[in-house]
Amino acid sequence: MKLNSDNNVLVTGGAGFLGSHLCERLLKSGMRVTCLDNFDTGRKENILHLLEDQLFTFIKHDIREPLELTYDVDMIYNLACPASPPHYQLDPIYTFETSVLGTRNLLRLAVDKQAKFLQASTSEVYGDPLVHPQPENYWGNVNTIGVRSCYDEGKRAAETLVFDYSEQLGVDAKIVRIFNTYGPRMRSDDGRVVSNFIVQALQNIDLTIYGDGEQTRSFCFYTDLIDGFITVMEKGRKATPYNLGNPDEFTMKELAKLVLEQTESNSSIIYRELPQDDPKRRNPDISLAKNVLGWTPETSLEKGLMETIKYFESVTSSS
Ligand code: NAD
Ligand code: UDP
Repeated sequence: MKLNSDNNVLVTGGAGFLGSHLCERLLKSGMRVTCLDNFDTGRKENILHLLEDQLFTFIKHDIREPLELTYDVDMIYNLACPASPPHYQLDPIYTFETSVLGTRNLLRLAVDKQAKFLQASTSEVYGDPLVHPQPENYWGNVNTIGVRSCYDEGKRAAETLVFDYSEQLGVDAKIVRIFNTYGPRMRSDDGRVVSNFIVQALQNIDLTIYGDGEQTRSFCFYTDLIDGFITVMEKGRKATPYNLGNPDEFTMKELAKLVLEQTESNSSIIYRELPQDDPKRRNPDISLAKNVLGWTPETSLEKGLMETIKYFESVTSSS
């Protein structure tokens, strides 16, 4: 079946935090969006408001299983994969298979439909990096048999598949390496640091810092990242990874302080054991996306946190 629009987009993981924002953005620009998800970590609430839109279709499917679509697909954004350490570590075999078998199934679909493809990869491909900041040509420092390996190695293998389908079968397949991104629609029980700190602060319970809190991350607001996805899909070179993230780097202590200030919370800070293989520093070198594609993140952590806190206030007061 040929659909009316020339821009039929498939978003896998479309009921998740980033996927639902991407679906919304694509619909706003007039595209016809098929959102696919198995609700592993995604939620119906994230897409309820889109179900009425004529240009929006939802398919419940696990990408580990092959997928056949009877209509044309021009672009595939593959975001399906649990992303938060506690969630992706719950069932490591599932996580690895989602990245590897799932990406293989979607690349086969891209061949069949002659669709452009974008793979949501991650800064985790650099593991606990020994080079700082991390440029795309750094090969990383990754443990193959640790608690994070199912995610890190799964995403690395997925990049290899994207590269091989691109080189061997000519798929126009792109890769974005996403650095810690946060914002509204993260789950309260997501387990990542930004949502944990905000939820704890709003409930006036202790903020849990893992380790000594001197480890760093660079936090990107979701709106900047979605701009980056669209830019790379439009202008990115195939089989070429692009780092997408905000290069402003913070320690977890600094993040905790900022959240406490912005929420005016009475919470204290407690220190918990640092999880195995937790990266010490992480900061994207975004020269490639900036200089070649003209993409730069614009939202400061202070501003992004304010919007995210407002979101969590609204969901906690309505539940
Ligand atoms: P999320 O957990 O909110 O979204 C993931 C979505 O994928 C969920 O809706 C989930 O139900 C779906 N999913 C999981 N396994 C699936 C399967 N087998 N079949 C179909 N759907 C499945 O996480 P997110 O933060 O929105 O992340 C989206 C993508 O971006 C993921 O691929 C993640 O690895 C990548 N990423 C995110 C970040 C970040 O900081 N947010 C950083 C690096 C990479
Ligand atoms: N972290 C923390 N307290 C929490 C959750 C996470 O101190 O309640 C730390 C975690 O150990 C890591 C950093 O915050 O050093 C970022 O963790 P997150 O799970 O958000 O992302 P990732 O480790 O995948 O970058």
